[in-house]
Amino acid sequence: KKILEVKQLTKSYHKNGEQPVLKNISFTLHSGEYVAMIGRSGAGKSTLLHVLNGSIDATSGEIYYAEKTKNIIEFNSKEMRQWRSTCATIFQDFCLVPRLDVITNVLLGRLSDTPTIKSFFKQFSKEDRVKAIRLLEWLNMLPHALQRAENLSGGQMQRVAICRALMQNPSLLLADEPVASLDPKNTHRIMDALGKVAQGGIPVLINLHSIELVKQYCTRVIGLAKGELIFDGHPNNLTEDI
Ligand code: ADP
Ligand code: ADP
Repeated sequence: KKILEVKQLTKSYHKNGEQPVLKNISFTLHSGEYVAMIGRSGAGKSTLLHVLNGSIDATSGEIYYAEKTKNIIEFNSKEMRQWRSTCATIFQDFCLVPRLDVITNVLLGRLSDTPTIKSFFKQFSKEDRVKAIRLLEWLNMLPHALQRAENLSGGQMQRVAICRALMQNPSLLLADEPVASLDPKNTHRIMDALGKVAQGGIPVLINLHSIELVKQYCTRVIGLAKGELIFDGHPNNLTEDI
């Protein structure tokens, strides 16, 4: 099933559209796919993830989501909010709230990215709590549920971040160098956990440095160079020079 389609996506950090760092990027993500994005530093990987999760604006392009294709610069604020909420993101530095316990960090995934006064006083529903507990259990983090996030190891923090991302009920999970700060054992646990997410039907798009990991875990790889998509295929068909 097609989850996301990006057509002719372009991004320039300049107002007049000069020196685009993403040039006519087009690709489609389907449920079940575990897709790595590779490319040299400055290729545009991080910009692409941020454009996809709505934290920076695209310059032009079309996005298919919720069963329709629409020009991304014509999104109204409601459409922008809806689209953002369908893309969950995890980061290299986890971005947990250090002083809060694990379960509360996970529940925070239920808050929208533009909180209203009401949402600050919101009590999480029993349903939400049960879901948070199930997610923690799924990644073997339930024994740590009441610990403060700051007391966890890096690998544990990233598993909590994955639970928080899934709490958002996303259609798609984006991961920006999620294992860059982890030791090999935890790197494999996180790569494995993201594989389970993909197998569960939510496509995962992950920004990675290590070709070894790409080949070991991912079902597909897209390669960026100087803002252009220069490869899209199976990791085994990767040419050396990306
Ligand atoms: P990657 O993640 O592949 O290393 P980036 O998306 O970070 O690449 O960067 C792509 C290009 O965009 C680089 O030339 C970088 O200098 C430029 N760039 C990134 N962020 C900004 C910004 N906020 N303002 C202007 N240029 C930027
Ligand atoms: P250790 O003390 O060995 O570093 P952690 O405290 O980091 O272990 O891990 C906590 C839990 O993570 C353990 O119960 C372990 O069973 C579990 N675990 C093992 N493999 C995975 C995996 N692939 N994904 C998620 N959790 C895992």
